[in-house]
Amino acid sequence: MREALLGRTRGELKELLKARDPKPYRAHQLFEALYRRRIRELQAATDLPASLRAALSEAFVITDVEIADVFRASDGTRRYLLRLRDGVLVESVWLPEPYADTICLSTQAGCPLACAFCMTARLGLRRNLEAGEIVAQVWLILNDIYGPGVRPERGVNLVLMGMGEPLLNYENVLKAIRLLCEPRGMNISQRRITLSTAGVVPGIRRLAHEPVRPELAISLSATTNALRDQLMPINRRWPLEELQAACREYPLRRNEWISFEYVMLDQVNDREEDARRLIRWLRGIRAKVNLIPHNPAPELPFAASPEARVLRFQHILRAAGIPTFIRHPRGREIAAACGQLAARRREDLTGLLASSPPRDAAARE
Ligand code: SF4
Repeated sequence: MREALLGRTRGELKELLKARDPKPYRAHQLFEALYRRRIRELQAATDLPASLRAALSEAFVITDVEIADVFRASDGTRRYLLRLRDGVLVESVWLPEPYADTICLSTQAGCPLACAFCMTARLGLRRNLEAGEIVAQVWLILNDIYGPGVRPERGVNLVLMGMGEPLLNYENVLKAIRLLCEPRGMNISQRRITLSTAGVVPGIRRLAHEPVRPELAISLSATTNALRDQLMPINRRWPLEELQAACREYPLRRNEWISFEYVMLDQVNDREEDARRLIRWLRGIRAKVNLIPHNPAPELPFAASPEARVLRFQHILRAAGIPTFIRHPRGREIAAACGQLAARRREDLTGLLASSPPRDAAARE
C-alpha cells in the first residue's frame, strides 16, 4: 500500500527525497505543492522533474483519507464523512459564517471520555488520528469548497471540537497544528485555531509552553464536582479545583481569552445559582463563555434548556462583566451540531436528510 505524503514536515520530506533527488530545494518545492497549492495528484507538481514525480507516484499518494459522503444542511453547514486508510470513519464540519468560515476537525476516531450529553462518547475510542489525517481534513474540505490552491478570501477558522479529546492525542495534534500554520504551506494563523479540551490538566499545562499554540477552549458544563463527575467523568481524574488552577496559571497572550463551553441542559445545570457559581469559579481567569443549547437525541437522557432560561443565564453572566455568547445550533438536521457527531451514515439518518442530496447528486449541481 502506498504511503501518504500529507502530514510530513519539510524535514521528513527531505529525508524521503534523499535517495531519489537530494537537491536541497526539492523538499521545499514538494512541501509547497502539497500544502500551499494543495495539488491533488503528484503529476501536478510540475516544478519537480517528471522522473521524480513518477518515482514518487509509485511509492506515495498525497493523502489516504477520502470523502465518503457529504451531508448538506439548509443553513449551508456541511458534514463530511471521511474514510481513513483502515476503513474507520470520522467526520469534519464546514460552517459558513458571515465574516469567516470555520472547519470543525476531529482529532480521534470516537472518544474515550464518555461525556453524558455527547453522541461521540457512545462510539468509545477507535484510535488516535495521525497528524496527516488531521491536516487532510482541512486539505480535503478546502479543495472541495474552493479547489486546489485557492485561498479562502476571508481566511478560515479551525476548531478542534469534532470527535475526540485533542489533548489525549497531543503529539499528533500539535504536529498537525504546526503544519497548518507553516507560512510557506497552508499559512493559517495560530490565533485562528481553537483547541477545545474536556479538561486534561497535564495537557493544558504542557500546551502553555508551546511556541506555536492555538487558542484554548475548555468544555466545562458544570460548576460542582458532584454534577461534573456525572456529566463529564474526566472530572473524577482532574476535578474542578485542578482545572481552575491550570486555567489561572495559563499564560495568555495579548487579546487572548480562555473560552468556556457550557452545554445548557434543562433543569440540570441551567439555574440562576449555577450561573452565580460559574461567575465565582471564573474569578481570576480572563474568560469568555459560550452557552451551547443542548442538541437532544433519543439516546441521550437530557432535554435542551428553554430559550428564556438560556437568555437569563447569559444576562446574569454579562451583568458580572463576563462576555457571554449563545451558540446557535448549526446543522442539526444532518447530525452535524455540537455533541451529535457519531459518524452516522446516510442509512442511519432516514428521515433527517431530505435537504441533503447524495454526494453524486450534489457533485452534479
Ligand atoms: S464532548 Fe468531546 S470530550 Fe466529551 S465525549 Fe464528546 S467528543 Fe469526547
